[in-house]
Amino acid sequence: MTIRPLIILPDSKLRLVSKPITAVTDEVRRLADDMLETMYDAPGVGLAAIQVGVPVRMVTMDVSKSETEPQPMVLINPEILSASEETSTYEEGCLSIPEYYEEVERPARVRFRYMNLQGETIEQEAADLLATCVQHEIDHLNGVLFIDYLSKLKRDRVMTKFKKVAKREASGA
Ligand SMILES: [Zn+2]
Repeated sequence: MTIRPLIILPDSKLRLVSKPITAVTDEVRRLADDMLETMYDAPGVGLAAIQVGVPVRMVTMDVSKSETEPQPMVLINPEILSASEETSTYEEGCLSIPEYYEEVERPARVRFRYMNLQGETIEQEAADLLATCVQHEIDHLNGVLFIDYLSKLKRDRVMTKFKKVAKREASGA
């Protein structure tokens, strides 16, 4: 397993729409292992493949609390089937937008479908943090970031901040 470098805002790759995975190959399994390793190392509760620069529809997640056993999930081609009208608000963060957190309102419960690494199709209900995390990660596969749900003012502010950081790093300062 290898920790892969994370792609950070404003990298334009974060806006790519990722492609479906057609078969669970060794390469897909290796990517899943690397993504889990990268996610736990960060640490984060969810990671989409595009965040390590690979535009395929795969997500890793672990929303278990730190005091319990790890519960790694690998979701291939995940999709939301239905969402509740009721919403909930969580303070979200993103490994591609480090040290920035804002409250986002999303459907409180979702039903979703994905393929696991065994090639089986799974349908599952999610609520609470898992529901938020699934929606946040599937958004990544469509080039959507959680800052897209914020006011234009807040979004412009965070974009400006990260553009400055990127510029500073590029100039080697
Ligand atoms: Zn994210």
